[in-house]
Amino acid sequence: MAESYQTREEVPTENTWDLTVLFESDDVWEKEFKAVEEELTKIEALKGTLADSAESLVHAINTIASVSRKLSNVYTYSHLKYDQDSTNSTYQSLDARSTQLYSRFSELTAFFQPELLAIPEDKLNSFIESNATLQDYRQYLDNMTRQREHVLEPSQELLLAQVSEILGSASKTFGVLNNADLRFPTVEDSSGEKVQLTHSIYGKLLESTDRRVRRDTFKSFYSTYDQFKNTMASLLSTNIKAHNFSAKARNFSSARQAALFANNIPESVYDTLLEAVGERLPVLHRYVALRKELLGIEDLEMYDMYTPILGEVPLAFNYDEAKAITLEALAPLGEDYVDIIKKAFDERWIDLYENKGKRSGAYSSGTYDSNPYILMNWQDNVNWLYTLVHELGHSAHSYLTHANQPYIYGNYSIFLAEIASTTNENLLTSYLLERYTDPNVRLYILNHFLDGMKGTVFRQTQFAEFEHFMHTSEAEGKPLTQAFLSENYQAMNEKYYGPDVNSNSEIALEWSRIPHFYYNYYVFQYATGFAAATALSQKILSGDKESLNQYLTYLKAGESDYPIEIMQRAGVDMTQKDYLVSALDVFENRLDEFEKLLKDQK
Ligand SMILES: [Zn+2]
Repeated sequence: MAESYQTREEVPTENTWDLTVLFESDDVWEKEFKAVEEELTKIEALKGTLADSAESLVHAINTIASVSRKLSNVYTYSHLKYDQDSTNSTYQSLDARSTQLYSRFSELTAFFQPELLAIPEDKLNSFIESNATLQDYRQYLDNMTRQREHVLEPSQELLLAQVSEILGSASKTFGVLNNADLRFPTVEDSSGEKVQLTHSIYGKLLESTDRRVRRDTFKSFYSTYDQFKNTMASLLSTNIKAHNFSAKARNFSSARQAALFANNIPESVYDTLLEAVGERLPVLHRYVALRKELLGIEDLEMYDMYTPILGEVPLAFNYDEAKAITLEALAPLGEDYVDIIKKAFDERWIDLYENKGKRSGAYSSGTYDSNPYILMNWQDNVNWLYTLVHELGHSAHSYLTHANQPYIYGNYSIFLAEIASTTNENLLTSYLLERYTDPNVRLYILNHFLDGMKGTVFRQTQFAEFEHFMHTSEAEGKPLTQAFLSENYQAMNEKYYGPDVNSNSEIALEWSRIPHFYYNYYVFQYATGFAAATALSQKILSGDKESLNQYLTYLKAGESDYPIEIMQRAGVDMTQKDYLVSALDVFENRLDEFEKLLKDQK
């Protein structure tokens, strides 16, 4: 059994992360905190100097970068310490102080980008030509100034800044309503016990093997949204209007163009995703039909989509076994990569077990100067093995980026982040399929993959398609009423899941409870990322050295170029369909094997 400790002090040191590498002690942290506080005053003096000369521009960039680098160490130490035990009052205070320091830094540096944008293009170019350091910063400067044509006159900018809070108020109100004010009913669980529904309990109960529980949960949960459906439509509609308005105000042709512009992603990436996934929906329908068959249900409902279809899990690993499997599963990434993973294990990058007050879930976090630490709440099961390789994917990505890029290119965009982690998950799936011949184990692993792709590629593409539909409908002047949204959501659900599941149900109201619809063209990245990772892992596993080297260039690139260009060099052109087709082929092949194994068992 995996351990779970009462107090932080009980956890054996070897299973905790070693934060002394970041700061030897709280006292050393305290000194650095004061130093950063003092350095903040230097930033104020930079205001109004950027256009003076190439040298003064370099000085400003370097000064801000140097403060930001130290500040991120200070901030990260306190937030990691806080997350390991949020009941510790010392670290509550350290964390609150460094959060405050961060917001002071943000305020002080707010002048930088507008002032940089105010430098005429010709002048900035001549600065760059004349200065070697600025030439190294070319990509950084290009990224900071490429929205030049979308910046308005100062008086208009001021107006937009003043209304920005109002434009975000529908989203904020939805959050308050959804998270704080909505009261959900109670339902009886499988033992007849009354359970208060919440967002997280809803998800858990939908996985129940008792169909009565699933049905009651689904119907009760949606009965609450049904009461507020017109309010929800009004909030969502206002939010979409705000996106369309902001895009128009800044001379973008659509909200989607504006949102994707933030990462310099062409809209073709989005269209290609919808098109490629749309063409392969019959394969998802096959998976749904199989679920219906395995559950032995005549009238499959949307509340039957999350219950396990295979019974008891035939696999479990303790942490030592998981480490050994991880090293073998990631071996196709080459010796250098595996050495990084060994470092993570040997140099205590990982905070492994649960203890009282520790933050739940898992993440990878660190700074340019620190180890890329991993927070876990390890349990001896397959899901946590997947989480381990996933977070190690993020950490190795950070490690390689920091080792190969200067500080100003030392981050990577969200669009690219999940590719590194899910490539590792895909390598693990392939490894497990190679290792296990027992049909029950294979069925379980195959289903883990199929389920993952259903949730990450198909479901997120469905959301992306609906999100785009709402924005374009609103731009065409169609009122986004409750009836309009429900009718179209139901049709889209039917399109995605096919004829074997009933879409004429409460699911038509799903749009009313999805926070992602307030994110502004965000979810498509989950789908493109997972698909790219699936395609890349196939290339890596083919054993072709060139493919591996290309993949490693992506892990080392940071922000030295734009995401689409980085992926192109990694061997995936995300403006073209091929990578999606290749990922969906993997889905179909594994579904074939899944069906065959089931047939053989009969
Ligand atoms: Zn991740």
